[in-house]
Amino acid sequence: MPTHSIKCPVCGDTIDYWRVYCRREHFVGYPNRRAAEGESDELAARHEKARQDASKRRVPSSLLAKLEALAEASQPVIDMRVSVCDNLLRGGKYRNYDQRVESDERPPASAQDHADREMVGSRLFPRYSQHIVYAALSADGRGTKTYGGEVWMRWTPFFFDRWVSLLEENSFTFYEQHSLGRIGAVVPTGYRAVWEDRAKLVITKLAPRLTSATAARDLEELLLHAGETRKDDKLVEVHIYAEGGLDTRDVDLVAFQRPPGTADEEQKWAQIRDMCAQRSIVVR
Ligand SMILES: [Zn+2]
Repeated sequence: MPTHSIKCPVCGDTIDYWRVYCRREHFVGYPNRRAAEGESDELAARHEKARQDASKRRVPSSLLAKLEALAEASQPVIDMRVSVCDNLLRGGKYRNYDQRVESDERPPASAQDHADREMVGSRLFPRYSQHIVYAALSADGRGTKTYGGEVWMRWTPFFFDRWVSLLEENSFTFYEQHSLGRIGAVVPTGYRAVWEDRAKLVITKLAPRLTSATAARDLEELLLHAGETRKDDKLVEVHIYAEGGLDTRDVDLVAFQRPPGTADEEQKWAQIRDMCAQRSIVVR
């Protein structure tokens, strides 16, 4: 992770690691992508090791190929309330926790919760965590179920290679696993990937869990397991740099997590279906 300054590739200006533009307004890329790019050699080494190990254990290469194809076809999905989805479809933007607190859309979480979020965010995205939207990499449009939402919304990767990066685990789990709460802790390298390397990251993470007995139908569940609590969620996390929030121009699917339970909900569900139909967004 580059914690020092970098050079603008156009004019050579020195740029702080969290910046997106140099002082002459040349675009220098988004810092989350730059951080992931900076770890690509370490990821490649872990990937190679995972493949060799799988081959020694006689994991069929056809199974690895299927997992790779599944990862390539996967997209970011966000778990949300139906009211949030409604607002997004009416032209609003999806805002992360920091952005919603900042705009008074929600009160801060409890002191403990707030501090945890800030710690994890600034360790992984120092000085720019307020711009990062979190999503889960999903093969089938279903996401996590631990954010109290009724809807999953899926984004298509149009230009995602520019502002998206991925992390092998849910960032809270990752933070805990690697003891990143210590003063001076350093984020280990090779666990993040740019969008184009998502299959490499997925293979690196999951190949050790495959055996010659793993069935192809189990792969989706391995890629994303929606747990009962956030700690039980198993996923590859997608980080989208979205200053001011993420708009819905690139949404291609809205999936309800459950059928409506009341007459009021029935009406809300129907409104979502109508708005999606107008915009050619698939609803499930
Ligand atoms: Zn420049």
